Amino acid sequence: MEIRTVGVVGAGQMGNGIAHVFALAGFDVLLTDISDEALSRALASVGKNLDRQVARGKITEPEKTAALERIATTTMLADLGPSDLIIEAATERETVKTAIFEDLQPHLKPETILTSNTSSISITRLASRTDRPEKFMGFHFMNPVPVMQLVELIRGIATEEATYKTLLGVVEKLGKSAATAEDFPAFIVNRILMPMINEAVYTLYEGVGSVKSIDESMRLGANHPMGPLELADFIGLDTCLAIMNVLHDGLADTKYRPCPLLTKYVEAGWLGRKTQRGFYDYRDEVPVPTR
Ligand code: NAD
Repeated sequence: MEIRTVGVVGAGQMGNGIAHVFALAGFDVLLTDISDEALSRALASVGKNLDRQVARGKITEPEKTAALERIATTTMLADLGPSDLIIEAATERETVKTAIFEDLQPHLKPETILTSNTSSISITRLASRTDRPEKFMGFHFMNPVPVMQLVELIRGIATEEATYKTLLGVVEKLGKSAATAEDFPAFIVNRILMPMINEAVYTLYEGVGSVKSIDESMRLGANHPMGPLELADFIGLDTCLAIMNVLHDGLADTKYRPCPLLTKYVEAGWLGRKTQRGFYDYRDEVPVPTR
């Protein structure tokens, strides 16, 4: 099946990045969110990130203009009706995602492929609640989407080969690389990454090191480009906690127990960069550790 029009649901940090890369690759993008403000912010981010690519000589000014023209925004889910492919990138909560697919289905063509950018929720379970589990897949982009090369493709138990092949073709058209993961909690990248981040929060919680020393240790001692706490702030602490809970519930192993300190930050609304405060305070020019 040829994919031309892509509907992106959720215009947060992932949704705007997904809209960006699809528009740049020549797809028409319909971007929706419940919040008008999120849509304006998303368009501003896409514009700013495209400008950066122009400045670095990665794309030309006309390519940037053409990409921006290919993105249309709406707060009405029904406007995504003409989409050949849906990418759901809304808040990491199963009830939110299920409701989106339920509301969207009546407006879609029968052949439209449904995907979720979920970091951890069962693809098989999300698919089973739609009218087309054979045309449902996990389509997991990494943050920041315009920069990161990998896309995880996750097949649910009912996913047809044709759906998988279509998505492989889409990944190729985006110029990215696909890794195929089986549908188990958090798939590959987050199954490995999140327990490491959670362990870094335990290391902080138990007083083994400060925010600065933990991040510096992993940057200079393990050659990671970012420290784990810095990375957690970048991802969003609510998303990190949600993924740890999915691992803990889904695999029923205490080694995935979310650190109480991570829960505390989320309860405080200190969710990382997106709320200006997390393990670092971003309100001034130079981020300051909060512990
Ligand atoms: P975010 O909080 O930045 O954005 C979520 C957006 O969804 C918000 O703009 C919100 O208004 C919108 N939304 C909520 N309910 C909605 C609804 N019913 N209809 C339409 N829009 C709705 O979150 P994010 O970091 O962009 O994460 C989105 C998804 O991507 C999650 O499933 C997350 O697990 C996944 N993901 C996140 C990362 C990351 O590093 N942040 C990486 C890969 C995948």
